[in-house]
Amino acid sequence: MALILALESSCDDSAAALVTSDRQILAQAVVGQNEAHRPFGGVVPEIAARAHVEILPTLIRQVLNEADVAVGEVDAIAATAGPGLIGGLMVGLMAGKGLALATGKPLIAVNHLEGHALSPRLVDTDLDFPYLLLLASGGHCQLLEVRGVGDYRRLATTLDDAAGEAFDKAAKLLGLPYPGGPAIEELAADGDSTAVALPRPLVGTDEPHFSFAGLKGAVQRVVAAGDHGAADIAASFQQAVVDCFVDRTRRAFVVSDAPSLVVAGGVAANGSVRVALQQLAEGEGRRFSVPPAWLCTDNAAMIGWAGAERFAAGLVDGLDAPARARWPLDPEAEKVRGAGVKA
Ligand code: AMP
Ligand code: MG
Repeated sequence: MALILALESSCDDSAAALVTSDRQILAQAVVGQNEAHRPFGGVVPEIAARAHVEILPTLIRQVLNEADVAVGEVDAIAATAGPGLIGGLMVGLMAGKGLALATGKPLIAVNHLEGHALSPRLVDTDLDFPYLLLLASGGHCQLLEVRGVGDYRRLATTLDDAAGEAFDKAAKLLGLPYPGGPAIEELAADGDSTAVALPRPLVGTDEPHFSFAGLKGAVQRVVAAGDHGAADIAASFQQAVVDCFVDRTRRAFVVSDAPSLVVAGGVAANGSVRVALQQLAEGEGRRFSVPPAWLCTDNAAMIGWAGAERFAAGLVDGLDAPARARWPLDPEAEKVRGAGVKA
């Protein structure tokens, strides 16, 4: 059994966790920075990095105390090394390197996307490789075939905005607070998802890519026209995203015969998204797995679990491991016209 101390600081959540290779989370702590970024309607990288400097060391001490573990007792230190906001990544990765240096334990530089990708295996003991993964977060929207630890094939990506970004931008247009996803979901519960005609970009096309910029533009025009209430717009927007997810994922099943479908990333916390994709998976005769909502949004438990899986595979890193703002899971993936902006 290996014990991993994990750190996460790639965006606006500071997090630390102690995770074992037999799927126990001995302790974990997440401190978000929503209040600090709310006045700006999105994450301000410099503010995020400075907040990680202030918060992260306290969280490390907190999880060690809570689990009654001395730092020298851990088997490895896992820290998110990318992709994400470079300032925050440098804070967390350097903290991890400091701990590795002080304890003499190996460093594992974890790809944040691999954290999301492997997270369902932390709670779903029956989820075996390969599986089809819809990764939908604030910075990404991809369909990946997860073949094993460190072995990913990207089937599709967004040509413009990430799914969570679309939620955040639509929320801003509706005057809702940041982060927009939970705010839209709450408001949508009181709305009619068929009330407003909105586009489903790329639906019906062969390659299962995504595009959300046009949807955002449509929301902007509907809000400006003033003919619909906010709840109906929120519900119709959410339904449009769900329809895109379902259609694109169904397309991906044409090229992947992976027996399971997994949804991860912050947008997977959305109830309508979860229900629709479960129905799709079952209709396609595939097993469905989605991590609990707390494991979908950014956290260090998933980084610890990815660290445990990499540690078991003998994949550790040197103290010269770089922080990487961009770090695709599938380095072989073809550049898609219009895409490539996101990792
Ligand atoms: P992540 O990038 O994985 O930390 O996820 C954050 C993103 O997920 C943000 O863009 C949020 O707006 C989005 N998100 C969080 N909760 C929900 C939700 N319930 N519905 C839709 N999007 C959500
Ligand atoms: Mg994330």
